[in-house]
This record gives sequence, structure tokens and C-alpha cells, in this order.
Amino acid sequence: MVETMRAARLHAAGEPFRVDVIPRPEPRPQDALIAVKACGIIPNMNTIVGGKLWHHLPKMPAIIGLDAAGVVVKPPEGRAAVKAGDRVYINPFLSCGICIHCRAGRPLYCADAALRGYFGFSPKGAALLDDYPYGGLGEYLTASAQSLVKLPEEVTFEQGARWGYLGTSFSGLRRGGAGAGSWIAINGITGTLGVGAVMLALAMGVTRILGWGRNRAVLARLKQLSPKRVDTMALGDQPIVPWVLERTEGAGVDLLLDCTGRGGPAAPVLEAQGAVKRGGMTVNIGALAEPLALNPTQFMTGGKQYRGSNWFSNEEAALMAEMARVGALDLSPWEPRVYPLAGVNDALRDIREERPGGFANLVVAPDK
Ligand SMILES: [Zn+2]
Repeated sequence: MVETMRAARLHAAGEPFRVDVIPRPEPRPQDALIAVKACGIIPNMNTIVGGKLWHHLPKMPAIIGLDAAGVVVKPPEGRAAVKAGDRVYINPFLSCGICIHCRAGRPLYCADAALRGYFGFSPKGAALLDDYPYGGLGEYLTASAQSLVKLPEEVTFEQGARWGYLGTSFSGLRRGGAGAGSWIAINGITGTLGVGAVMLALAMGVTRILGWGRNRAVLARLKQLSPKRVDTMALGDQPIVPWVLERTEGAGVDLLLDCTGRGGPAAPVLEAQGAVKRGGMTVNIGALAEPLALNPTQFMTGGKQYRGSNWFSNEEAALMAEMARVGALDLSPWEPRVYPLAGVNDALRDIREERPGGFANLVVAPDK
């Protein structure tokens, strides 16, 4: 008899999810079988499953669900770093493995990559989803040994289901050189990426964390995390540049982390260029798509940089787990809101309509 499982599937872009009973996946020898305990619901998911972007969706009906955490039911055969019962985060980043970047050991630069349970960055990338067609919104999924990141007991499954967004912020902060002694500013500090970036920056020893956004309640809460180190401003209350310069001895910040999402405006990050220290860097992690009218001379004479940072490495995912385990990274500010599998459409509606900001951690528990 074939064992079955429940999964919330997208049958056509733009339609609500349907909970279907389908065969439970049988892992290939090199893959693990994972029982999913939590899958993150993020604001961007509504846009992705609407199918209105350039992204290449998996074949329909598709089990969506980008960030999942669960328990190993069956480890991969042969040498494996995990055993049955281990708690894991499943890194959804799939790279092609054969392009010049993958061959050079830099899979994050792969142009034909995919995020499982979400989309391919190209048609070739979407083909990678055929090997792993199981997103986090199902009771079980299969995953390669390399994609599993062990989670310590100190990290709940709900917190683990935020690892993708947290990792994106972590990698952006590291690529921008954030650390003890540095001053940073976060454009879009109240969103999912922004709040995670503040929690990480505090853990990384960043001295001053400035930022602006629209949600005043979230701005106030962020400041409360560390009143002497964090300073926030509601976008539009004051011009960005003098506000930052006043707080940085007139020099500006070492790093500007731009969390503006794909549909967001370019104006604030452009304005904030005047608040980046000479020799400093802007790192785009939010996928801002609107063109940016940068002044190249300022970048030349000021020795400034602008770069992008997409996703993160498994090493970074494990480092965050270790930081949480020893208490360096405090994940307690997140407020979990757990929906059963049948409530996935409610979760997507709530995050779209309420816009609760980055402290809210909406997850679906597929086993509920
Ligand atoms: Zn590649």
C-alpha cells in the first residue's frame, strides 16, 4: 500500500492553495526523508504564487514552501551528517552544479539556480525543481545531504522556518564587513529582512545600528532591543542624510544594507547614498528592481561600493545555528503565529492585509 501525505498545492498561479492527499515521497538513496514541522510564510510569497514576476514557477500542481524546518525520518544512505531524529533546516537553494561558477565552488553565483518550493531563476533553474518537487507546505519532503543544516534545541522549528530570510540578512551583513566597531544603516528596517538584520547585527557586535521604515510600532520595538545601539526613524519624518550624519560624527555609515523589496521605491536608498561613509558599501539584499541613478564620480572619489548579495551559504546557516545555540543570537523577539496546513490561505491573506512587520513570524505547521 502506498503511504500518503497531505500537502497544500498550487494548481494554477493566482489561485488559492488546495490541500491534497498525495503519495508520500520516497527518497532517492542520496536523499533524506524529512517530516516538516514548520514552513515560513513571507510577504513575498503572495507575489511569487501570483505568477506575475519573472520567476519560473515549478510544474503545477506544485507544493510551494521556501523555508522549512523538520525532523529527519530517514537519513541519506552512506556517509551522512544527519541521523534519524535530527532537527534540521532544509536550505532550499539548488544550483546547477556544472556552470563555471558552480565548478569554481561559488554556487551562489549560479545563474541557473532555483529555490525549491518557490521558483527557478531561469528555465534551466526551474528544471532543478524536478529533482526536488516538494516544498515546505507538505507533511514530508526529500532533501539532499548537502542541503540539511542541523538545528540545535535552542532553535524552535518556527524559528528555523525563518532561516532563509535571516541567512540572507546575515550574508549581506558579512559581505558588507559589519562587525564590532562598525556603523551600519538599514533601509527598510521594519520588514522581515530588516528586523532579522538588526537581531544579527546586535549579535555580531555592530556598534551603531541606524534604520528607517514605515511601521512606527516596529520602529519603536527595534529601538527597545538595544536603546543605545539602535536608532530608528519613520521614513519621511526627516531627510535621511542629516539624520544619519548627526549620529556618525558627520562621516556616515560603513555599510548601508538595502532591504527594499522588488516592488519598492529606489528613492530612499538613492537618497541614503549621501549617508554612506567614504570607503563604505551599499549591499542590496531585498531585490530592489527599480533603476538607481547613482553618481559614479561619488563612487570614484569616495572609493565607495555598491553590490548585491543573494541568499547565503550552508556554512553561514550553520554559523547562525551555533550563534543561537550559545546565546549570542537572540531569536526571542520573533512572535510566532502558527497556522495548520488547511489555514495556509488564511496565513497568506493575513500577511498581505495586516502587513504585521518583521517581528511577526507566520508559519504553517503541515502536521497540524
Ligand atoms: Zn551553476
